[in-house]
Amino acid sequence: MANRLKAAALAVYHTTYEPALALVLGPRRISGFECAAAGGPPEVAIHPHRVAGCGPACGFDQGERRRVVARYSLKTRGDGALDRALGRAARRLSLTPMAIDLDRFPSHTDFQALVKRRSSRTLPKIRKAAKMGYVAERFSVHAHVYDIHAVRTSMRSRAAGPVLDYWFLKPEDVAKPAGRPATWRMPKCPRHWTLWWGVFLPEPGHVQGKVQVDRRLVAYMKLMRIGDVLHYTDLMGHGEHLGHGVMNLLHDAIIRWLIESDEPLVEGVRVVLYGAAEHGGEGLLTWKKRAGFEPMRLILAPAPDGKTDAPLSRDRRAG
Ligand SMILES: [Zn+2]
Repeated sequence: MANRLKAAALAVYHTTYEPALALVLGPRRISGFECAAAGGPPEVAIHPHRVAGCGPACGFDQGERRRVVARYSLKTRGDGALDRALGRAARRLSLTPMAIDLDRFPSHTDFQALVKRRSSRTLPKIRKAAKMGYVAERFSVHAHVYDIHAVRTSMRSRAAGPVLDYWFLKPEDVAKPAGRPATWRMPKCPRHWTLWWGVFLPEPGHVQGKVQVDRRLVAYMKLMRIGDVLHYTDLMGHGEHLGHGVMNLLHDAIIRWLIESDEPLVEGVRVVLYGAAEHGGEGLLTWKKRAGFEPMRLILAPAPDGKTDAPLSRDRRAG
């Protein structure tokens, strides 16, 4: 019942509040970016769909991944007068995705050059965090449940507003804690997956429940790959470590991985999406800008064929 109520409240939020937010706040929020003087956000076609190579265990289901696509992308429209008018209205009434187009950065050095142009302080922060011993890498959420809980309950309010978790979250709400040492697992489909990245500090003797892990997780990010889009769905740092640049370090490590790695998991990722320009306060928008994000319109390419985009049966939905 609670879940149904929550889903209904979210549906109302997405269909009424967000269009109003886009209309009222959108133009002002993008005014500080290069694209504001160039006729609006650049448009990039995205291909989130299942493809023939996905395999039977592909996780592009009817749930969260499809909702992200619906919330942040616009339909491809024809060239007729009515289509153009509808397209203009849709742009005004849609959230403005904040994204990085990786096609613009042949190397990680090229990406860092953009970050440096936006603020001279970010790269020194990242270098300092690395010198202090912070390391960013993938992890199993089940292996670090208690540290994630500590991160999420470390501050009463954040850039996006008050933190309800501060009062109500219990460790078991995060995930099921592992009873033995656990490492991250390879997703079933290379194009549709969820993975966690974390920032760690070595700490001999540190435990999670009864399992000794010898390192402390101080920041994390939940990544969701949806075809050629990678979405930052959940990211947070511990209040005591945020001042050490741990979020910048984490983001930079992920972008480096996306650009430089030849793993199938990242092959074909083009757009890194982190919410919308209309989300949160000015502080959050400034963080995104300094991290290399810019306003963008994501245009949904048609599914390659009806078959690959068909609803999945229940047993094929895991993953
Ligand atoms: Zn897939």
